[in-house]
Amino acid sequence: MSSFPGLIDEIPGISVDRFNGDNFNSAVFFLSHCHTDHMQGLDLQFFQRIHDKHQYLYCTPISKAILINMFKLNDNLVNTIRTIDGCSPIIINYNQDSKILYLTVTCIPAGHCPGSIGFLFENEQYRILYTGDFRFDIDDLSKIKPLHTNVQDKIIPKKFDTIYLDTTFFNSEFRYLPSRQKALREICKIVDNWISQNEKNIVVLECSANYGPEHLFIELSKALGIRIHVKDKVFNSYTIIPELANCISDNPRESKIHACMGKLNFRSGMYCRSDVEPEFILTVVPSTLRWRNKNVSKCIFEWDENSRRFYVCYSCHSSHDELEAFIKYFSPDKLYPCVCPNNLKFEEFKSQLNQVLNSSTINASNYDLNLSRYKSLIEVNPDVSNFSDDD
Ligand SMILES: [Zn+2]
Ligand SMILES: [Zn+2]
Repeated sequence: MSSFPGLIDEIPGISVDRFNGDNFNSAVFFLSHCHTDHMQGLDLQFFQRIHDKHQYLYCTPISKAILINMFKLNDNLVNTIRTIDGCSPIIINYNQDSKILYLTVTCIPAGHCPGSIGFLFENEQYRILYTGDFRFDIDDLSKIKPLHTNVQDKIIPKKFDTIYLDTTFFNSEFRYLPSRQKALREICKIVDNWISQNEKNIVVLECSANYGPEHLFIELSKALGIRIHVKDKVFNSYTIIPELANCISDNPRESKIHACMGKLNFRSGMYCRSDVEPEFILTVVPSTLRWRNKNVSKCIFEWDENSRRFYVCYSCHSSHDELEAFIKYFSPDKLYPCVCPNNLKFEEFKSQLNQVLNSSTINASNYDLNLSRYKSLIEVNPDVSNFSDDD
């Protein structure tokens, strides 16, 4: 859950992923993705206010489509949203304290949910990376072009003054998390097996409210050729996302896979299909928090035979070790945690996070060597990581 207050210390006048309080005074706004913890303060009044002040909100075309649908924006207010996509930088100028300031902005793929991005902000003084919520594949890190630069014919990671980081799982209880591909393979296997056993069988996907399950819907639907019945309130938004539109349904009778209900501790049956007897329902629960301190490097799923529930470790955020590899790879001057655990004071957590930098031995000249070392630590033997335990 993001606790980032929206303002970037080094770049006055812009707000990212928070739109209330002090952010009222900003001149330019950025939204990394459409999860509610990143949208605080976004409402009709916000769009009306920036329209009146000739200001703009920048996000991806998919996020724009979701916002238009969510707030039923009229044409005037739609024009306050400018889209940014791909890896080509854009230059924004804005008025701050009676001065015209220039900012180069590049979006970075975030792999978190459809339309999600991070932002690279560069001005004359600073280079800042705001990751947004993200899950990256360590193999792809060196392929993210905007995060690298060419020095004497050598491609090296860019040096950042500060990285504002998605620290959701920067916690030793989540050192390793399986890739989503790995989790998807298990889910596809179990769902396919269940629905082919009996034509009455139905699968319920139990996803929590703040979860980003869209990637799961797309891959599961593609693999099994079945549209997924989703919640009414997200159906319209999903239909405008090209990659999701063909994977979902608003017709409960059309689908054997249902993601139409929220997470509940007790449920006596299906809301959308009262004709389905409980013995024909298999519940699949993709989640991360349940796997706290469990050895998911060996097994990523659990069965509860009594309630016919299948739990799978599935994460849209980077694991602790992935984050550590990311930090050491880029080795920025400073780190700012965008998600702070409830039991820690912000400054305390920030200093713990920045200790990773002090233990960093990596630099631009040996980054590829080090990256392969981190990869092998994470993928081959996650339990014997020799990263420091002081976090
Ligand atoms: Zn999110
Ligand atoms: Zn349903």
